[in-house]
Order: sequence, then C-alpha cells, then structure tokens
Amino acid sequence: MRVLLVEDNPRVARGLETALRARGYRVICAPTAAQALAAPPVDLVLLDLGLPDRDGLEVCRELRRRGDVAIIAVTARGEERDRVNGLRTGADDYIVKPFGVAELNARIDAVMRRAARGAAVSGTRQVGSLRLDVDARRVEVDGREVALTRKEFDLLGALARRPGTVVTREQLLADVWQTTWAGNPHTVEVHVASLRGKLGDPGFVQTVRGVGYRLRTEPSG
Ligand code: CA
Repeated sequence: MRVLLVEDNPRVARGLETALRARGYRVICAPTAAQALAAPPVDLVLLDLGLPDRDGLEVCRELRRRGDVAIIAVTARGEERDRVNGLRTGADDYIVKPFGVAELNARIDAVMRRAARGAAVSGTRQVGSLRLDVDARRVEVDGREVALTRKEFDLLGALARRPGTVVTREQLLADVWQTTWAGNPHTVEVHVASLRGKLGDPGFVQTVRGVGYRLRTEPSG
C-alpha cells in the first residue's frame, strides 16, 4: 500500500514515516501542499491541515476531486470546526494531534476497510436488487434499466460506495456537486426525491434524519 504523508513538521513527519513503514507501507513524504498535489497516485493520504503554502482543506478538496483515494485529515488544533470542514471537503476520517501509533493504525484500518468495500464501485456493483455499472453509467433495478440524470447517477454512486452506512448531506455535496454549499439548501433533497421516484421504491435511499442518507443493502421484503 502506498501512503502519501503530507506533514510540514520534519520531526512529526519522521515519526509517522517510521510508524507507517513499520507496517510495510511505501511512504511518499510531502512537506508542502504543492508537493502533495504533485505526488503520484497513492492508496491513502495522511493530510496535515496546517500547511505552510496552502489551506489543507483546499488540498483535501483537490485530492478528492482527482479520484477515489482514502484521506485521513490531521488537525493539530483539534477544533470541531476543522474536523467538520475536513469531513465536508472529502476526508474519510480525521485524527487529532497528538496521537499515538495505535490510534493512527486503527484509523487507517477502518478507512481502508471502507475503501475496500467501495473499490468494487469501479466496474459493477450489486446492492440488493440494484445494479450499478459505474463505467457505463447504467443502473438496473431487478434487471430493468433506469434512466438517471448525471447528478442522480453520481448521487447514487456516492451512496453505493458506502452501502448501508450513512453519508452526510455535506459529504454528498462534496462528492456530487464538489462544493460545501450548493446555494439551494434543498439541492440534495430534491435530487434524492427524483432518484427515489425513478428507482421506483422510495426505500432504496433511506433518510437518516438530521444527518444524511443511506443506501439500503437488503432487498425489500
Ligand atoms: Ca502543520
């Protein structure tokens, strides 16, 4: 597994690099945002949000836009706002400095497990009676093709990447609209409603009140 370690503090970076290499990972170190964005593709990014040359959240957003890499945001301040913003801009998890190797490893394992589940999404994915062909951008329900708009498909794809788990409205905005604020507060709701209508069973996409949405993994009764 290749890990991009984005950390400007050389002492912290050395410690983390040692810990990551001890697990057999190949580590690419980037002390600046510029170097992070110039790095080759990796499986996981450990991203310090406090970088000297650019806002870490912007880096997070840019990395997320490029593809399906696992991102763990690292914040020194431990401010709730930072963590929430990190998750909103596409991080899969966050960790607060100072943290121990055991905690880091646990976070990495959790994030990579989720990423492994989502990896099947490139290609085709079966979730209950729903079948997604991501490359052809086709959706079938019980073998019947359903025509979706681009945004509806992206929305379904974002949910299918983490079937059975709650995806926040903020995460959907980040994944599908590449923004944290779509202008219209009902953007996600409107698209979920049209998606449900087209899938023919409102139960496919479940609302988790006040949080977001979840794709049902079991076929209905
Ligand atoms: Ca820093």
